[in-house]
Amino acid sequence: MSSVENSEQLLNSWKAAAEKNTETQRAIVAETAEINQDKILRIFREEKVSAFHFHASTGYGYDDAGRDTLDRVYAKVFGTEAAIVRHQFISGTHAITAALFGILRPGERLLYATGDPYDTLKTALGLTGREKGTFLDYGIETNTAPLDKNGEPDIEAILSRISPHTKVIAIQRSRGYDNRQSLSVAAIEELIHKIKNFRRDLIIFVDNCYGEFVEQLEPGHAGADLIAGSLIKNPGGGLARCGGYIAGRRELVEQASSRFAAPGIGLEGAATLGVLQEMFQGIFLAPHIVSQALQGAVFTAALLEKAGLKTSPSPHQFRTDLIQSVTFYDKERMVRFCQAIQEASPVDANVVPQSSAMPGYGDEVIMAAGTFIQGSSIELSADGPLRKPFTAYVQGGLTYAHVKIAVTHALKTLLQHELLESRENQ
Ligand SMILES: *Cc1c(COP(=O)(O)O)cnc(C)c1O
Repeated sequence: MSSVENSEQLLNSWKAAAEKNTETQRAIVAETAEINQDKILRIFREEKVSAFHFHASTGYGYDDAGRDTLDRVYAKVFGTEAAIVRHQFISGTHAITAALFGILRPGERLLYATGDPYDTLKTALGLTGREKGTFLDYGIETNTAPLDKNGEPDIEAILSRISPHTKVIAIQRSRGYDNRQSLSVAAIEELIHKIKNFRRDLIIFVDNCYGEFVEQLEPGHAGADLIAGSLIKNPGGGLARCGGYIAGRRELVEQASSRFAAPGIGLEGAATLGVLQEMFQGIFLAPHIVSQALQGAVFTAALLEKAGLKTSPSPHQFRTDLIQSVTFYDKERMVRFCQAIQEASPVDANVVPQSSAMPGYGDEVIMAAGTFIQGSSIELSADGPLRKPFTAYVQGGLTYAHVKIAVTHALKTLLQHELLESRENQ
């Protein structure tokens, strides 16, 4: 038998084993999707979502019943009193900064309870770089409480960093592009409980990016005061072409809306220009799309583990977000993998991603993203900084079949280039 036939056979056996070994995990994912789908249907029915809610408003966008209804749908989904969902939010970072700028005043402090914040927020908060208009520039300082040695929130470290000026505690649910565990909604609830027991008036903010619909409950159900996220991740269901949301206690959402728009406009204005239909349909589809991406992530972990790579979470671990990290221990192996994911993308499959310098990153970064919506990470993408131990983050996928095909193709590429022998010691 030729070595090509050999590797084909090996790959097929790994693939079959990865599917079989993840049946239980994938069934759990499907069950969560069904429960969340049922919740969405109930909320749509309660809010009497109707075709006239999809009409476009223009100009100031006053009296847009569709937009107001979508806000109430989001509030109910996330277990909060109020929400603001707008395509005018450029990204998750924009929604998060509007939320935090809305509730913090000069001289008050923010404490990040889950270690270093996501890269783009470090810039916005003024922790790195020297942009103007950061929180620091406005006299709002950020402290961070490092995670403990297991990568979990360290309550002692958190409480010891709370000063009389501390007003808001931020919790990041997803690992983002960090080498830590993501925080389950139950763990968030426990953390909130401990912080509120220490000081009741502290406002708890949760960065919910990548977490929506992965579990049956959301941070709003766990006592978070304010949460935010991006519509080109989970809650847009792959359909929303841009946007973000903020949900939480009414008073806080109103303050955030003053910052997003202007004081006096708040929740009342913002033309929808015809985007509401895709936003409603997007959140309707989101439980299913998230389940496809998650089944893909579970399969990815199982398949790549067979090939001797290190995956986190592991195939059978509990999940609370979409991120799957894969450690390659080798630069060429990681680059080839990402390039092969691009080859198996529906858009720009002929483009070969190269590593390059990116603003805000110390190392070169490689990004594979053949997506319909630019930068959308509910669609399959693979990226990461090229530094030891060469960890790529693989997330999203609109269909489970696509993730399976793409990851299998990537592994086949590594096999064909003889890039799979152990390199852990490099
Ligand atoms: C994606 C993400 C954000 C926001 O990123 P944008 O690219 O601005 O949407 C913030 N925090 C976490 C943890 C994220 O994953």
